[in-house]
Amino acid sequence: MADVRTGDTPDPARARDLEDRLRAVRARISSAAAAAGRDAPELIVVTKYFPASDVRILAGLGITDVGENRDQEAAAKAADLQDLTLAWHFIGQLQTNKAKSVVRYADSVHSVDRLPLITALGRAVRAEQDRRSGAGMEAREDLRCFLQFTLDADAAETPSGRGGALPADAVALAEACTSTEGLQLAGVMAVAPLGADPAEAFGRLLRISAEVRAVDPAAAAVSAGMSGDLEEAVAAGTTHLRIGSDVLGPRPAVG
Ligand SMILES: *Cc1c(COP(=O)(O)O)cnc(C)c1O
Repeated sequence: MADVRTGDTPDPARARDLEDRLRAVRARISSAAAAAGRDAPELIVVTKYFPASDVRILAGLGITDVGENRDQEAAAKAADLQDLTLAWHFIGQLQTNKAKSVVRYADSVHSVDRLPLITALGRAVRAEQDRRSGAGMEAREDLRCFLQFTLDADAAETPSGRGGALPADAVALAEACTSTEGLQLAGVMAVAPLGADPAEAFGRLLRISAEVRAVDPAAAAVSAGMSGDLEEAVAAGTTHLRIGSDVLGPRPAVG
């Protein structure tokens, strides 16, 4: 079987397909931003389940930021695409034992949702910074961390299985993150709950963002908005959209 991850000569039909889809998504973002009277947020293209050859095509179309949700897959793609200047955003649920691997390639983690993960990421970043300086390599910047919250209305006590801290823990997590060497608190992140009104959910996220900014005024980023709810996210004031399927097409079935 051909290795789909080594795409030196990208398939021209796929390149046209991605170009068309990306153009349509960018048009949606521009009109949503114009309607809201805001600047267009940053676009992170979520490339999970798609091959590195697609990421290469997207880089050629001007994409600089890509999102991945599984460490093994992300690490392999980042290694394949080392020749490109890309910022890798880790957006999936993260086990503490994966922190060491993630900080080798990721500029930011959008799924920081508990204290032990903050500790593990801080330690991993500092070790990676030492390793690189010891090896005479380019320095690793501090890791940008987005605190992920669950917006499920009924998750007052038990966070949902999809990850995310309880909104009530926002200040404690923000304080822990700002005081951890190696980490830079970027802001907040959430996925709109299934079946809920995304506008209302993102409104809640913006209120959590205000609490986080009270701890650290520089932590103003808001990572919200996916293919199905980007307009609502832009209207609410997102700064980072995470768009997958509307750029790449339907995701292949998980094997
Ligand atoms: C997959 C994923 C996205 C992208 O979702 P689409 O609906 O394909 O745009 C965004 N955020 C997270 C956390 C994801 O896991």
